[in-house]
Amino acid sequence: MRIPFIAGNWKMFKTKAEAAEFAKEFVKLYQGTDVRTAICAPFTDLELLVEAFKDTNIGVGAQNVHFEDEGAFTGEISVKMLEEIGVDYCIVGHSERRQYFGETDETVNKKLKKLFETDIVPIMCVGELLEERDAGKAFEVVGRQLEEGLSGISKEDASKLVIAYEPVWAIGTGRTATPEQAEEMCAFIREGLEKLYDEDTADSVIIQYGGSVKPANATEIMNMPEIDGALVGGASLKPVDFMAIIDF
Ligand code: PGA
Repeated sequence: MRIPFIAGNWKMFKTKAEAAEFAKEFVKLYQGTDVRTAICAPFTDLELLVEAFKDTNIGVGAQNVHFEDEGAFTGEISVKMLEEIGVDYCIVGHSERRQYFGETDETVNKKLKKLFETDIVPIMCVGELLEERDAGKAFEVVGRQLEEGLSGISKEDASKLVIAYEPVWAIGTGRTATPEQAEEMCAFIREGLEKLYDEDTADSVIIQYGGSVKPANATEIMNMPEIDGALVGGASLKPVDFMAIIDF
């Protein structure tokens, strides 16, 4: 049985003061909820959030990490640095990082391997561009991202993974994939996992949908059998909106 998992991705929003304000309100709203949740925040907010959520089940995630242990990589953060402050999750391969910061399937793969040396759970993002969907290549693209991203990763590690299917054309655009489109791709991802590994592994991976998820569409998305959760950008910035999604 897969437990629903709804994660927020704040992107480059919220100073420490704003994060503290969010945490105070969100902890109150979240009380008594059993849906698994986490906030993936800018590096500068992580320590504060770990502290603010320490007596709760709310997880904390980073949005990126470097795959080397240490070295001359100006501006980068290592897995060990995240581990030391008690981060639970790390987003890997978000489409904005693929688009603007040169992330490739190869770097995604290296980052996953490095994270699997620790208990930090990777949230691996996959998804096609609009041109790719229009050209009928969505499944080919996502299949490749999955296969290359997971190359050389054991089934024990893969079974702990969270995968977020985020069609790039639905991110921050207000244009959500229909629940059927999202379900179709999440089912394709699960079949892909079964081919790469086996049925048990495929069954244990949490597959989220992301792209303009909001309180008004969360229920129909979450009701889809192959969709186990959501990765929420814009609608995770206000405690009330994010809580309404968690309460789908
Ligand atoms: P959005 O972002 O919910 O604002 O569309 C989702 C994401 O990029 O993870």
